[in-house]
Amino acid sequence: MHLDVMDGHFVPNLTIGPPIVKWLRPVTDATFDVHLMIENPDLFIPEFSAAGANWISVHQEACVHLNRTLELIRHHGCKPGVVINPATPVESLTEVLDMVNLVLVMTVNPGFGGQKFISSTVHKIAQLAKIRRERGLNFRIEVDGGISTDTVAEVVRAGAELLVAGSAVFDGHDVTANARALLKAAQAAAPQSRVAEVVRI
Ligand code: ZN
Repeated sequence: MHLDVMDGHFVPNLTIGPPIVKWLRPVTDATFDVHLMIENPDLFIPEFSAAGANWISVHQEACVHLNRTLELIRHHGCKPGVVINPATPVESLTEVLDMVNLVLVMTVNPGFGGQKFISSTVHKIAQLAKIRRERGLNFRIEVDGGISTDTVAEVVRAGAELLVAGSAVFDGHDVTANARALLKAAQAAAPQSRVAEVVRI
């Protein structure tokens, strides 16, 4: 379960904080994949960990001392992830790829649900898959933003394995059918992939 945390500063929207994560924790055993779109994430990592986060991802653009922040996440018992916005190159992650559980490639500019997929980001997914192979690393590749039955094949073929979907799952009347259709389209596009779907709330 992918939890989008926004602070109204790093991104122009506000969503949830640690108390909501804490209240959700008894409801499900699902992995909580907490995506922090906030300034000064170091200040909140202990609280999100205590609230029940399993994975915590931070934006490369929000972290002056990214290495330290990723270490801090691990120190608090969570798996660290790093996120890049559409304008940020993969090369900016070279020195931290061996420290992370996942790399999240934003396929929209973060801040709002229901945005149009930016297809120029897809080459970064393939680039990460290539680097992972060449360096023998094992981070997972996640995508977030504009993922739907129209766009999922493209990202999965490029190497995306964790697919974050909000509107594509929750719009309409049948959430289960929407989720199944998206996962089926992903699996059809790349039958050998370790693809999984993460529902955004
Ligand atoms: Zn997200």
